[in-house]
Amino acid sequence: MSLTPAYDAENIFAKIIRGEIPSVKLYETDDILAFMDVFPQSDGHCLVIHKRATATDLFDIDREMLASLMAGVQKIAGGVKDGLKPDGIRIVQFNGAPAGQTVFHLHFHIIPVYEGRALGAHAGGTPAEASALEELADKIRSALLKA
Ligand code: AMP
Repeated sequence: MSLTPAYDAENIFAKIIRGEIPSVKLYETDDILAFMDVFPQSDGHCLVIHKRATATDLFDIDREMLASLMAGVQKIAGGVKDGLKPDGIRIVQFNGAPAGQTVFHLHFHIIPVYEGRALGAHAGGTPAEASALEELADKIRSALLKA
């Protein structure tokens, strides 16, 4: 398999964009969607994707779309920062299965880091309760509204 496989429109994030499966949304425009990660590595772990870019990874998106996606990442990370007040924030993006990529629609992880609390495993474990995700999402959404 090449590092950048062909885009598969049946990937789980494409289904989230089309509304075929549910997600806890934080922010949405014609271009950008941010939603909570269901296997969070920490409280507030969320994902930002471009809705119109059929890109599997960083090498597969045109620069204008990437610029608008990165602006979205900065905006949502600001909401996480103000809404949850973590001690640090990781922005992570994986390219290729050997690097750890499990969903092949380009996305950026926003992972809040809290001092003294270890991060959970990447893309595994038990899914978070929808109510817990909603509670965290509310705080992020409120911070985004105030920004
Ligand atoms: P990656 O391994 O970088 O491709 O990241 C994919 C991320 O998507 C992981 O952190 C998963 O926990 C997350 N994920 C998988 N399925 C869903 C879903 N249905 N809703 C939200 N996040 C998901």
